[in-house]
Amino acid sequence: MENPWMMAQEQFDTAADMLDLERDLRAVLRVPKRELSVNFPVRMDDGSIRMFTGYRVHHNLARGPAKGGIRYHPDVTLDDVRALAMWMTWKCAVVNIPYGGAKGGVICNPKELSRGELERLTRRYTTEIAPMLGPEIDIPAPDVNTTPQVMGWIMDTISMHRGYTVPAVVTGKPVNIGGSLGRNEATGRGVAVIVREAAHRRGMSLQRARVAVQGYGNVGSVAALLLAEAGATIVAVSDSRGGIYHRDGLDPAAVLAHKHETGSVVGFRGGGHVSNAELLEVPCDILVPAALEHQITETNAPRIKAQIIAEAANGPTTPAADRILHERGVLVLPDILANAGGVTVSYFEWVQDLQSFFWSEQEVNQQLEQVMVAAFESVERIAGERKIPLRLAAYVLAVQRVADAVRVRGIYP
Ligand code: NAD
Repeated sequence: MENPWMMAQEQFDTAADMLDLERDLRAVLRVPKRELSVNFPVRMDDGSIRMFTGYRVHHNLARGPAKGGIRYHPDVTLDDVRALAMWMTWKCAVVNIPYGGAKGGVICNPKELSRGELERLTRRYTTEIAPMLGPEIDIPAPDVNTTPQVMGWIMDTISMHRGYTVPAVVTGKPVNIGGSLGRNEATGRGVAVIVREAAHRRGMSLQRARVAVQGYGNVGSVAALLLAEAGATIVAVSDSRGGIYHRDGLDPAAVLAHKHETGSVVGFRGGGHVSNAELLEVPCDILVPAALEHQITETNAPRIKAQIIAEAANGPTTPAADRILHERGVLVLPDILANAGGVTVSYFEWVQDLQSFFWSEQEVNQQLEQVMVAAFESVERIAGERKIPLRLAAYVLAVQRVADAVRVRGIYP
């Protein structure tokens, strides 16, 4: 399997070449600023002790404190976390919010842990990485398999250490302890805004569009619900256990209810079974990968039928697949633009926590819409001026902004 960190560096190199970035700056931006690996014990429900391994990586903090999610997954590696941290740096720069990039992860399968085990794992991992955290240093958020409840435990752990409540140390918290209205839906909502803008530019009507969504979690399910609300037909969805397909459309809310009840979209009546690999190739106009990295490769890229791919997940498309899709005229809406709605509302949450003054959901959604549309327009303008794909254009915009910040701050000492 292709290494996401190699992929992230290759994407950066392409943008650095295009920008003619000076050698020294390129060396600074090509690697993470700091990385922490921790091995820590957790007492399991049966009284035994199990060791877990986790990571927290800061990529570049020139534009502000570090921001990025925490992932709980059996396959997490340090290289994944490095790649995800670098992508966060560029993502924050694309939407022009004052953050650097970070990411964290713990190698574990949360589906096999009880609630108590999950809480103890979260509190101990938080304690181990606590020297890197703080409202002015690094503000984590949810990612795959981490929920508002997990963010609540992180907030409480740091608050217990400090002796006072520190809401701004983490975002994606429950609303009753300083979370922002609209944060849960923000990533999927941002995806839907970018899809709408792109479809409009392409002359594609959302009313007639057929959409397939890989990964029916937080991001994928919200994107599906909002695209359906905008008139699109959701023809296929999937999760880690498999997928369902119906040519005439699935009801995304009913599918979500089924997933809540049974733990999976599989078995939903009114849909035929498809595998996750097949889902990517079903007849549709818009494909939304919303699961994990490395799903669209040179092997399946030639067979994808969608005209638009909206990268709700981070890093779902390999560079080789990117080239094939570009040649085939498929429009790829890159992750660092398409899924930036989550970090944007995380930023709003942090601002609200720091000011102890909270916005209405309508205000959050309006501000999100403005940020996403402005970012889309900036990226599209660069793509048009330089005649390059949207991914490279987003990288050019982001790397330029971060490089400018590093240049003007200078090298210490
Ligand atoms: P989640 O845990 O809520 O959902 C992930 C979904 O993907 C689950 O339904 C899971 O069953 C499914 N899945 C896992 N492996 C799969 C596979 N091999 N094939 C198909 N489905 C699979 O996670 P999420 O927060 O929705 O994150 C999804 C993606 O979006 C990740 O790439 C994440 O990095 C990215 N992302 C999330 C946010 C956020 O705010 N949560 C923000 C930006 C990007």
